[in-house]
Amino acid sequence: MIQCPQCKTKNPNTALKCESCGTSLKPAQPSKGAAMNAVVNKLFDKLDTLNERICAIEQNTSGGSSVSISDIKMPFGSMVVLMVKWAIASIPAMIILFIIGSIVTGIFGGLFGAMFR
Ligand SMILES: [Zn+2]
Repeated sequence: MIQCPQCKTKNPNTALKCESCGTSLKPAQPSKGAAMNAVVNKLFDKLDTLNERICAIEQNTSGGSSVSISDIKMPFGSMVVLMVKWAIASIPAMIILFIIGSIVTGIFGGLFGAMFR
């Protein structure tokens, strides 16, 4: 339905002129630019809500001594991406721990080897 901008009469989508007052209805139809604007506005709305959430988290973390991140709502996709990044980041950490472990066991092994000879 197209609403007449002049008299607010509802006209069928196919109507080029208002059935009641004859006003041209073409400008009332949403153009591609308007549709794009709507999408962009929706995106900015989402960003705003995200920003508010981040601010709330920051207030929680800086405010009291307790940290609450339990009620972060995250899309499943970004959760998966985060987990993958986490897993990749843990690989070098594991390598470092392995190297430290092998050095420590090497030192102790050498010590005990020298003691019981
Ligand atoms: Zn009209």
